[in-house]
Amino acid sequence: MIRPQTIQNIMIGKGSKLYSMGRMKCPKCHEGNLYKTSLISMQGIYNMHKKCTECNQPFELEPGFYWGAMYIGYMMSSGYMLVGAAVLMAGFGLGLGFSFGLLIFFGLIALPAIARLARSIWINFYVSYNKDAIKNVNTGERK
Ligand SMILES: [Zn+2]
Repeated sequence: MIRPQTIQNIMIGKGSKLYSMGRMKCPKCHEGNLYKTSLISMQGIYNMHKKCTECNQPFELEPGFYWGAMYIGYMMSSGYMLVGAAVLMAGFGLGLGFSFGLLIFFGLIALPAIARLARSIWINFYVSYNKDAIKNVNTGERK
């Protein structure tokens, strides 16, 4: 029988896309951080490393690579507004104006986190996990 812990590891453990996306780790080795600073340090939302500090995977695959991440961010924020408005209006009986005011207020607070997450998701579309990524760098092998 598969233990719940095992299922959890497959879904959000190291080696899964969700692990790399959610923790904003390098999509290739899942060790290096995508961003130089933490979000709450207020030192720039997009303060990314040029490449992975652990496996040398470049994080900007081509010039303007992260333009596409805007679509992810757009989808996440529209989803948030639609679901949020439905919950506040139908679930709590709040008015349209008040619901949207509330959602925009919290949306602006969450904006930097959404922007970072969008980039993290975007690069995961293009780069796959390689458990030997760091080992290959250390032995000088290119794969
Ligand atoms: Zn890496």
